[in-house]
Amino acid sequence: MTGLVPPWEGTRLYMARVDPHLIHGCDVILDIDAGSLTDLELLQCKYIRRLLGVSTRCSRVFLFTETGLVPLNYRRVLLSLGFLAYALAQPPERLVHRALATALRLARDGTPCWITDLQWVLCHLPVAVDVLVTDLGDAACVPGVVDRVHDSLDSHLQTRFQASARSLLLRNRSDGPPSTTTPCPVAQFRPYLRLRIPDHRVTLTRLVFSDHALAAEHLCWYDAQRHGIPLTDRVCRFCHVAVETPVHALLDCRHHAALVSLRDAFFADLQARVPGIGARLRGLSGAAVIQLVLSMRPALALLARFTCTVLALYDRAPIYVPPQFWIVE
Ligand SMILES: [Zn+2]
Repeated sequence: MTGLVPPWEGTRLYMARVDPHLIHGCDVILDIDAGSLTDLELLQCKYIRRLLGVSTRCSRVFLFTETGLVPLNYRRVLLSLGFLAYALAQPPERLVHRALATALRLARDGTPCWITDLQWVLCHLPVAVDVLVTDLGDAACVPGVVDRVHDSLDSHLQTRFQASARSLLLRNRSDGPPSTTTPCPVAQFRPYLRLRIPDHRVTLTRLVFSDHALAAEHLCWYDAQRHGIPLTDRVCRFCHVAVETPVHALLDCRHHAALVSLRDAFFADLQARVPGIGARLRGLSGAAVIQLVLSMRPALALLARFTCTVLALYDRAPIYVPPQFWIVE
């Protein structure tokens, strides 16, 4: 369904047509049974993966840091807090206010009820948010609790993102002009997802998500015909020397004439599109070069086209498996 929908429009469609099904009733019915949420979370991730064109091998945290969509467990509890604020603001004669007052009384007495369930859900977020019953019973305190849930979400995504070995090319981003180097929010819709050519956009996305078919990733997939291959032996199919990573393929390998000329043409185009880029790239590591170009909006289309062409070149050659790793019957 989402194969040809551009990601930005796909996220709007998601909020309009999919999200309502995933949050139905969540403001009142709390997720005290974590297992009951699993299927809904899988559906959310499946939609975003199809929208971006990435596989199930990519890290789940990227689905949220790159699109700005909110993980379902956080979205549902935030809506519950919204309902709490609404109920607290109602006049005392309204049934919803009376029901809430009863729940608050039960919670103060230590009896399980909707308020204690809400405390439990907040406490069992990936980064726990501990709140008192008095905080949940005071309309003036609820916005503060909401802010703490947002902080918990940012902290959770940041920790998972930094811990992922696959996030190398997505790190050290900045927003705005180079002189300001404003740090990017941990989760927002990223400019490279607005690229108009689907093949270029998906190929670049898969590359930076470490969801590509270069040897560094491809040779860790299971294959009954070969033994497991350590990363240091997943070498380039052209030079058989360095590990075949995105940085090596895009920037380092010089054992294929077409690859070298493609690279020279890319940097010449880049210099023309972003004057002065050469000085900024000088002295940077390969990963830092890709990180920097990825944060430059005028250079994104060039980077995506270059990536697509280079990976197509690699795809046309058989992947190299060192002979000692083949299983001989
Ligand atoms: Zn090579």
